[in-house]
Amino acid sequence: MRRVLVLGGTWDARDLAARLDADPAVSVTSSLAGRVRDPVLPVGDVRIGGFGGVDGLAEWLQVNDIDAVVDATHPFAARITANAADATARVDVPLLVLRRREWEPGPGDRWHTVPDLAAAAGAVPALGERVFLTIGRQGVDAFADGSGWFLVRAIDPPDVSMPARSELLLDRGPFSVDDEVSLMRRHRIDVVVTKNSGGALTSAKLEAARRLDIPVVMVSRTPIPVGVASTSDLEVAVRWLTQPHGQRPRIV
Ligand code: NAP
Repeated sequence: MRRVLVLGGTWDARDLAARLDADPAVSVTSSLAGRVRDPVLPVGDVRIGGFGGVDGLAEWLQVNDIDAVVDATHPFAARITANAADATARVDVPLLVLRRREWEPGPGDRWHTVPDLAAAAGAVPALGERVFLTIGRQGVDAFADGSGWFLVRAIDPPDVSMPARSELLLDRGPFSVDDEVSLMRRHRIDVVVTKNSGGALTSAKLEAARRLDIPVVMVSRTPIPVGVASTSDLEVAVRWLTQPHGQRPRIV
């Protein structure tokens, strides 16, 4: 029996857990941070809450006799990704990062790529007054001093300062392009701000912005730690986990 820890909180992590749970040779535990009040739970065993940094995660891996870890967390969850790299190296447990491909601009897109949320907040005033802020609830405070009007969409209410002139829209994807177009029209949106999360489930806003000729401020990801294997392909991750150690596909 191979014991696998999936660091989750994403649709990809839930898909992976479902695939692994169906394999009688694998025992999978998914881990969630516990940020979302009413999370969509993966199938199989689930643990919720932080591990207590690198030390806590390394200890958890040893106590639970874990054979391999897949970090399938959100591309912007940089702290847990760094912790997973350090903890698995310390206790010599193989680690694979499963991460959706980044979105790429296509013909007709008006993207302004920025390194972080502070730079995104700085870029917004030159692009428009009415802002669709679709970065989740974390980091909304980077826009708290913004003078424009903000439509803030998140699954749960942000527990940080919001811009003075804003409306909160609580909703969970996936969203359709038609719905995103109507939402942006209804609120007379001038500019969209998003993180480069990648994947099809929340990309409708990008297609909608293209159709409406609206600029998009796109926040870049933090790179995966150097030397850590990664893939965007769920099937590759499943093979990596389920084949004997020496026969695992080489992934860089
Ligand atoms: P983060 O900044 O990278 O991590 C902060 C701390 O939260 C970590 O040090 C760890 O605490 C704990 N943690 C994070 N993910 C965990 C997990 N899967 N299982 C157990 N503990 C976890 O993470 P974040 O950006 O706050 O994201 C939290 C969770 O929300 C992640 O699981 C991520 O997949 C999901 N999520 C994040 C975003 C986003 O935009 N950041 C979007 C959608 C979903 P300890 O140090 O105590 O272990």
